[in-house]
Amino acid sequence: MKIRKVDTFPLLYRLPKPYGDANGMKRFRASYLIKIEADSGECGWGECVDSLGTLQITFRERIIPFLIGKPVADRRKLAQTVKKIHSRSASAVSMALAEITASYAGVHITDLWGGRYRDNVPIYASFQSYSEEHDWQKQSVLAVKKAAASGFNAFKVKIGGKSFQEDIRHINAIQDALSDHMFLALDANQSYDLAAASLWRSIMEKQSGFLWLEEPLQIKYAAEYGMLRQRLPVPLAGGENIESFADYIPLLTQRSVDYITPDPLHVAGIDEYRETLSMARAFGIRATPHTYDGALTRLYALFAQACLEPFSKMKPETIEPVEWDVMDNPFTQLIPIQPSNSEITLPYGAGIGLEIDQELLSYYLWDGSSYE
Ligand code: MG
Repeated sequence: MKIRKVDTFPLLYRLPKPYGDANGMKRFRASYLIKIEADSGECGWGECVDSLGTLQITFRERIIPFLIGKPVADRRKLAQTVKKIHSRSASAVSMALAEITASYAGVHITDLWGGRYRDNVPIYASFQSYSEEHDWQKQSVLAVKKAAASGFNAFKVKIGGKSFQEDIRHINAIQDALSDHMFLALDANQSYDLAAASLWRSIMEKQSGFLWLEEPLQIKYAAEYGMLRQRLPVPLAGGENIESFADYIPLLTQRSVDYITPDPLHVAGIDEYRETLSMARAFGIRATPHTYDGALTRLYALFAQACLEPFSKMKPETIEPVEWDVMDNPFTQLIPIQPSNSEITLPYGAGIGLEIDQELLSYYLWDGSSYE
């Protein structure tokens, strides 16, 4: 079975109301999907992230000519070569070829991977808390309340982009709005140093219900993460931008974090992503995926979590939650699955077990105009 055709779908949505985190405001959301067709007739979808223009040129001029005629079964080898051409494109190729293989065999991706431990995977509502509105704190608390009312029991909000006092007021207001059985993760997007991150200790000692503190420091400071882990009474999480399986080793061997947060879009394909999860298990460290930049990627992260052995025997917390983007982003609707009680029930069926919304795909197709 060989690759016959590759189509690309660059998607863009300009945000009417920008939102953001410690890294600044987002003014658009983008998504880049590919569809690979095999000479047997099976098709598979993939997703990757970068500037849409860079991806269009790289696929058209380098990646598609390389892929045409290559065996679908060589998924790992092809993803490794594509990574050398353009590192973040490997994930799209890897997903699409995995789907074709599963569809050809008439099984679900999770069957291809050895089967599921569970059909339901927990998720948490992920927010970009900052906006350009003067009442951003009030808006943020309302958004969290709305998600709680719709059934979510776990949430992630942003810190690190405002003054310490402003962030504390915001977090206290959210904690006051949540009930006892709800959990909150804080994400600083690598904005502090060790001394500034340690200031959160007094807040965290006073309140319970923190899921984790995400990326308080630059992720390259594995030793400092280890020190902070001793100082703070909440788990530490990080690693969403790490691009290689091997680059997680310092965090794992130095016991720097309680959770690694790999992103299937950032490592060299879905197979390497799954190996990263297994490596975390081997070190006794939890793995909760970062999946903010794509609904198909998020679906693959859910599949991988369904196939991952439990991290403990403690019920019901046997598997780490997956990030669920609840912000204004039409691309989250590309995959027709809906949360219920902070969980996703995964589909069965050959391949990925559902159809991508192609009308939505056509509607948001990028016209090539400048947006960055
Ligand atoms: Mg993060």
